[in-house]
Amino acid sequence: MANRTQQFRDDMKAQWEPINAPCAECGQATIDWDGPKNQPDSFELDHKLPRVNYPELEFEPSNARPTHHRCNRHKGAGQTVPDLGMTSEEW
Ligand SMILES: [Zn+2]
Repeated sequence: MANRTQQFRDDMKAQWEPINAPCAECGQATIDWDGPKNQPDSFELDHKLPRVNYPELEFEPSNARPTHHRCNRHKGAGQTVPDLGMTSEEW
């Protein structure tokens, strides 16, 4: 299976990187375009309309926006991930 997701991401990055496009979430033009995958400042492709609800728009350029990895994580895709931050240490 060809990795179309990766290809689309690279195509969009090629358009945004030369103009240093700002993050769609926080508005700061501090995206690390070639940063490692899990770095907070690294580039991540965000979908305006989430893929889960609009799979047909996954490769639609007008539905894609640049974000920081950290900003995209905050947003999620409308699903809440259980927060395991609370531990039950009572002692
Ligand atoms: Zn951001």
